[in-house]
Amino acid sequence: MEGRRELLKTLLGSIFMSSIPYQALARKRAVIYRIRYSNTTDRTRLVLDCKGEVDRKNIKEHLSGKVLWLDIRNTGAVRKLTRRIKSPLVSEVKVIPITSSRTKVKVTFKESHKFKIFGLRSCGSKPFRIVIDVFPEFVPISCQVRKFPKRIVVLDPGHGGKDPGAVWPPRSKHPKIREKDITLSIALKVRKYLRKSPDIKVVMTRTRDTYVPLLKRAEIAAKSCADAFVSIHADSMPNYPQWSGVTVFKASPSLFAKAQRTAKEVAKRVKLCSDVMCWSISPLLINMATTVTFAESSRLARYIVDNLKAQVNDDLINGIKDMHRNIVVLKTPGRPAVLIESGFLTNSLDRRRLTKRWYQEEIAKGIARGIEEYLNSLNKVAFVR
Ligand SMILES: [Zn+2]
Repeated sequence: MEGRRELLKTLLGSIFMSSIPYQALARKRAVIYRIRYSNTTDRTRLVLDCKGEVDRKNIKEHLSGKVLWLDIRNTGAVRKLTRRIKSPLVSEVKVIPITSSRTKVKVTFKESHKFKIFGLRSCGSKPFRIVIDVFPEFVPISCQVRKFPKRIVVLDPGHGGKDPGAVWPPRSKHPKIREKDITLSIALKVRKYLRKSPDIKVVMTRTRDTYVPLLKRAEIAAKSCADAFVSIHADSMPNYPQWSGVTVFKASPSLFAKAQRTAKEVAKRVKLCSDVMCWSISPLLINMATTVTFAESSRLARYIVDNLKAQVNDDLINGIKDMHRNIVVLKTPGRPAVLIESGFLTNSLDRRRLTKRWYQEEIAKGIARGIEEYLNSLNKVAFVR
C-alpha cells in the first residue's frame, strides 16, 4: 500500500512537473542580479537577470507619469543596482531591495511610453529574465482632439552627426560628398518654401549636423501630431552606377503585415526552449496602421512626384515605389509618410547635380509644392485618422 502510494505520488509528481513545472519552481525565492538593455529600431528592451524564477502574480506594476514601478514579491536583489540607459525612450533603471524577499524596480521613461512585461525562462546559459519592452507612443490621444488650425508636416533630413549616410568616394574616411549634408540642405530649402504658406507648420527632426536615432524621429512625428511625414535621403548603388534620379518611396502593406507579426516574433525567437514565455501583460499595444494610411501615403507620394516632374526634368523622376525595407519612420500608424531618395551618389551626373545649389532648390521646390497641395487637399476630403 505504502509502496503504491509512493509510486502514485511519484507519477503524479512527474505529470505535475512536466505539464506545469514553472509554477512548481516559482515557489523558491528569486534574486535579481543584473540589469541589461538593448535598442532596436522600434523598441528599447530592458532585461533583469534573475537567479530562480519570478512568478507573474508576484509582480505589481504602477505607472506614475514617466516612472514605471514594479513591486516584486518573493524576489530579492543582490544589492541596489542602477543603470543609465542610452535610449531615446528610457533614461534609467534602478533595482531597489526592500527586504530579502521584496524588491522594487524603478524605470524612468523619457516621456510616457507604452510597455510590455514578460518573463523568459532560463535557456542554455541564459538565466531567467524579466523583460520590459518599451515602445514609443506613436499616436498620442491629444492628436485626436487637436484644435490646431494649421496643418503640420514633419521634414526628416536623413542621417546626421556620427551617421554620414552614403558617402563619395565610397568607404572614404574623408569623403568629398556626404548624404547627411545633402539631405539637410534640401530639407532646409523645403522648409523655406513651406514657410511661405501661413496654413502650414513645419517641424524638423534635425536642423543641424546632429545624430537623431530613428525611433526619436518617429516619435517627433507622433508628438507633433503631424499630418504628413517626409523623410529625405540620397541613395548609393555601387553595383548600378547607371541608376539615377529621384524616387519617392511609400510604405508597402507587406511592411505593416511584418510589423504586426512582431508580437509573435518574441515567442518564435525563443522557440528552442519550449514553453519559454511564461507570462506577459499589456499585449502589444501599438495599433498598426489602417488602410487609410496606405491610401493617404500614396496620395502624398503622388502629389510630390507630380510636382517634382513639373519642377525638374521629367526624366529625372523615377516615380513612386513601395518600400519593402523595414523603415521605422514609414511605419508610424495613422500618419501618411514617404521617403524621398533624391538621387544616387554612385551616379556621376546625380552626384554633380545633388551638390549644386540650383538643383537642390528645384527638388526642394517640387517637394514643397507636393506637400502643400497634399495638405490643402486634406481640408477638402474627409480624412479619418
Ligand atoms: Zn539615407
